[in-house]
Amino acid sequence: MARVIAVANQKGGVGKTTTCVNLAASLAATRRKVLVVDLDPQGNATMGSGVDKYEVEHTAYDLLVEETPAEQVIVRDTSGKYDLIAANGDVTAAEIKLMEFFAREVRLRNALERVKDQYDFIFIDCPPSLNMLTVNAMGAADSVLVPMQCEYYALEGLTALIDTITKLAAVVNPELAIEGILRTMYDPRNRLANDVSDQLKQHFGDKVYRTVIPRNVRLAEAPSFGAPAIYYDKSSAGAKAYLALAGEMLRRAERNELATEEV
Ligand code: ADP
Ligand code: MG
Repeated sequence: MARVIAVANQKGGVGKTTTCVNLAASLAATRRKVLVVDLDPQGNATMGSGVDKYEVEHTAYDLLVEETPAEQVIVRDTSGKYDLIAANGDVTAAEIKLMEFFAREVRLRNALERVKDQYDFIFIDCPPSLNMLTVNAMGAADSVLVPMQCEYYALEGLTALIDTITKLAAVVNPELAIEGILRTMYDPRNRLANDVSDQLKQHFGDKVYRTVIPRNVRLAEAPSFGAPAIYYDKSSAGAKAYLALAGEMLRRAERNELATEEV
């Protein structure tokens, strides 16, 4: 059964989409079965997977509003390594239409139910706001992965986000956990980044991934090639960092399983 992970941060440009596609590609490289659900109407995860958001037949809109079965909405990334549910501008309409439905917070959860056992991981790329799409992601997820840049005010934003996640979880999904906090676009020469990073570890301890994603031009270029960086330049610092993160996640998951077995 897949572990469903919502990649969320109400701030834009912190590396949510980059994390979704590169982590999906990295886990796929270790033969895990992965699905990426693009819930951002900007469709960046879609384009970044090499799928043309203007040409795609079905999107998350069909899944959420039309109740089109998930297996009919799923496409493959261009490299054929992971699956994708695409997004484009239509998904903006889904956000509005969702309001009309009863149990609107769990539409995504219900829609993914029928394909969940076909995957090891499902990543949901959230839009940069706390709207009904993000609420649906939280409703469907087992946990939330929060990418963040170590800059001034970052901690404040993070505390607010975690507060919101906790409140939302109490209503739509009491089991929702924090999967981990990921430091992105990290520059170790920047003193402020180091200070914020230290505070982050003090506040959130083990929840902060040991793996740090450096600022790396290959990661920024990758979307224009329509493929995650780990496919077109596996030796880049960015690709290596996401491969390392995938390894860290798998080791964590194993440890957690062992711990549960012991109980
Ligand atoms: P979000 O989904 O949170 O809005 P993105 O993943 O789209 O953020 O990243 C914002 C921009 O920064 C994009 O242009 C992306 O290519 C670039 N970017 C993301 N991570 C890195 C990184 N580690 N190094 C350099 N550029 C990055
Ligand atoms: Mg994004």
